[in-house]
Amino acid sequence: MAHVVIVGGGPAGLSAGLFTAKNGLETTVFDTDETWMHKAHLFNYLGIESEDGSQFMEDAREQVDEYGVDRRQDEQVTGVEGDGDGFRVTTDEDEYDAEYVVFATGTNRDLAEDLGCETTDEGPIDVDVDMETSVDDAYAVGATARAEKWQAIISAGDGGAAALDILSKEKGERFHDFDVPADAE
Ligand SMILES: Cc1cc2nc3c(=O)[nH]c(=O)nc-3n(C[C@H](O)[C@H](O)[C@H](O)COP(=O)(O)OP(=O)(O)OC[C@H]3O[C@@H](n4cnc5c(N)ncnc54)[C@H](O)[C@@H]3O)c2cc1C
Repeated sequence: MAHVVIVGGGPAGLSAGLFTAKNGLETTVFDTDETWMHKAHLFNYLGIESEDGSQFMEDAREQVDEYGVDRRQDEQVTGVEGDGDGFRVTTDEDEYDAEYVVFATGTNRDLAEDLGCETTDEGPIDVDVDMETSVDDAYAVGATARAEKWQAIISAGDGGAAALDILSKEKGERFHDFDVPADAE
């Protein structure tokens, strides 16, 4: 099973993790809990009338945990290197191998740049419409890949798009994460 490592557990990273774990990929999220959501109150997230940003994070973490995301809270990623057949991810505690890496590190883009991901003239990591960077199988989402227009719902959408691209590669065809009412019974 492919291992997806997600660096950053804000709305962008957790959304990516929700999609990949829900659909059977081994998923690890590293997060140091400096998400801007702790400063926010949401009135502009469709489907949520009014919610404190920290409460949103608590709910989101619970949701991804239920789908089996290996969420390593307070473990900091210190480096990501290509190892020819994927990535070697180093943290302040250990080393991990991954077939895919998703950078969801907010406005700190150092790790992605160190890996060799190209940036746009404005500074963010350059991505295609599936949020893939110039390095194959490395993705950047949310504030890592956007100049300013990075509200929570947009960041969460980016994470979903990256995850669907990873899932499509793994399954060898365009993958749709569609559920129907009967799935909830
Ligand atoms: C004052 C304020 C008010 C806001 N109000 C709103 C609002 O009303 N509505 C709205 O939609 N948005 C609002 N936002 C913006 C919103 O918070 C961001 O759009 C959103 O948090 C971006 O999500 P993200 O996942 O891209 O990045 P972030 O939420 O910033 O998450 C990045 C995560 O990556 C982690 N990380 C970074 N580097 C590493 C590493 N090396 N190893 C491990 N973890 C790492 C960080 O600790 C952090 O938890 C507001 C922001 C601020 C500052």
